[in-house]
Amino acid sequence: MNNAIYNFPVPTNEAVLEYRNGSPERIALEKELQRQSESCIEIPLIIGGKEIKTGSISEVRMPHNHQHLLAIYHKATEKEVEMAISAALDAHRSWADLSWTVRASILLKAAELIGGKYRALMNAATMLGQSKNIFQAEIDSVCETIDFLKFNAYFASKIYEMQPRSAFNQLNKMEFRPLEGFVFTVSPFNFTSIASNLNMAPVMMGNTTVWKPATTSLLSNYYLMKIFQEAGLPEGVINFVPGSGAMIGKTVMASPDLAGIHFTGSNATFNQLWGGVSANLGNYKSYPRLIGETGGKNFIFVHPSASAKEVAVNAYRGAFEFQGQKCSAVSRLYVPETLWQDVKSELLAVSTDARMGDVNDAGNFINAVIDEASFDNIMSYIHYAEKAQDAEIIAGGRGDKSKGYFVQPTIIVTTNPRFKTMEEEIFGPVLTIFVYPDAEMNQMLEICNTTSPYGLTGAVFAQDRVAASQMCEYLRYAAGNFYINDKPTGAIVGLQPFGGSRASGTNDKAGGEFNLIRWISPRTIKETFQPATDYRYSYMME
Ligand code: NAD
Repeated sequence: MNNAIYNFPVPTNEAVLEYRNGSPERIALEKELQRQSESCIEIPLIIGGKEIKTGSISEVRMPHNHQHLLAIYHKATEKEVEMAISAALDAHRSWADLSWTVRASILLKAAELIGGKYRALMNAATMLGQSKNIFQAEIDSVCETIDFLKFNAYFASKIYEMQPRSAFNQLNKMEFRPLEGFVFTVSPFNFTSIASNLNMAPVMMGNTTVWKPATTSLLSNYYLMKIFQEAGLPEGVINFVPGSGAMIGKTVMASPDLAGIHFTGSNATFNQLWGGVSANLGNYKSYPRLIGETGGKNFIFVHPSASAKEVAVNAYRGAFEFQGQKCSAVSRLYVPETLWQDVKSELLAVSTDARMGDVNDAGNFINAVIDEASFDNIMSYIHYAEKAQDAEIIAGGRGDKSKGYFVQPTIIVTTNPRFKTMEEEIFGPVLTIFVYPDAEMNQMLEICNTTSPYGLTGAVFAQDRVAASQMCEYLRYAAGNFYINDKPTGAIVGLQPFGGSRASGTNDKAGGEFNLIRWISPRTIKETFQPATDYRYSYMME
């Protein structure tokens, strides 16, 4: 028995390695890239700790070289989804009963494995399977994944410290129960770290999960699952179930034991899940918690006092890193007329310099978009802009899917602040710019605030600090993550808790206490030392 009260220190964020040519980390990564490129693995389901092969097979291919097969994977049928639900429910009691410090130690061990012996493996799988360059893979699959794991252990320790006061003659306690039932986790393709966190945040708080990974990020997600197991995760705590989202979602939502959904992905999918829960509401044992982080139509708003170079560099990085496939990516830019020529020439200079291609060539800033459906969707927006009277493409505009799904970083300038590509999430390398008359800045702020249904990230650039502050106030609900003189991507766990409202989700701020609190259902326990022995109160005795 160990009844000590533990202290978890505030973690430090994982350092991003540089991967310079010839560095030990670069050599290890290149070796691993080659190893994974030369093999084709078989990805099973993992339910109750056991590998299951259904024989219903599909393929994982490199987005930047779609002839290259990386893996085949087995898809779940309804039977396996039911098995996963049972396994999660069976594991619930013992996982919840386990000391939370043991649960935390499993998260910390997983972080250690990812930062050490599996660093190259996680990076290579994310680079090859999701077409990220070295830097984008490192900040996601290694650094952010580790940060989520370590900070969640720390934030859980802070939550567990919160106890009510005890008055005279009584002892009050709060027990932080996990939700009763299982949590359905549904992850997107674009961040390996999000897939990890969607599971490990509820798991840290004592929950068990049924995990539906995105089919386009299965390589890294499968390795993650294996690492969790190696870190000591007991069987059934996370059940890895690739397959059709619609079928898995439908089966899961029919279960009376659904206790919560932890989702990141598109607005449309989250709406479907919410609708499914509403339709089944009478069947559940508890009201399922619905936590979803969804799309964005993120902006940079430029004040006339801003530096044109800073605006251009940050807009370029914010819009085009990882091919614009970040929920936080900049996709609309408002520039005052007086700065426009300078911003434009800086943007075009970067555009001609930045290269696109295979992830194995470290000189490439931009790689491929995730799959053919995404390529076609992005190109349809570009073709729309090509034909429009009120828009002009000033950079990029071409795509080529013959070998990989490559879309040139594309910059559109429009004279219509409500042009289609100013309003809709494209989720690709497309930035649309509206140039406004300086004297109409206040009207433009209102247009910026009301142009899209989303409210995820946004930035203002201004050297006039008072103006920046006023813009920040005005745009209060336009973004859940707001930046002053910085690009609105690249939030770091523990430093900028992440999430947005409006159509961007429930804003439960991944990677912090706000999110973890959603995965518990506290029980208050009062013990009285002098129980009443007379039904009458004092005033009745006279
Ligand atoms: P998506 O909605 O297409 O898919 C997300 C997941 O949902 C996948 O695993 C998919 O298979 C599954 N799914 C699809 N239909 C389903 C259904 N009916 N039932 C159950 N599951 C279903 O999203 P995506 O293309 O993987 O990711 C891109 C989207 O994610 C963008 O809109 C982006 O803005 C958003 N995103 C948001 C954040 C954030 O923090 N706000 C972070 C990353 C990505």
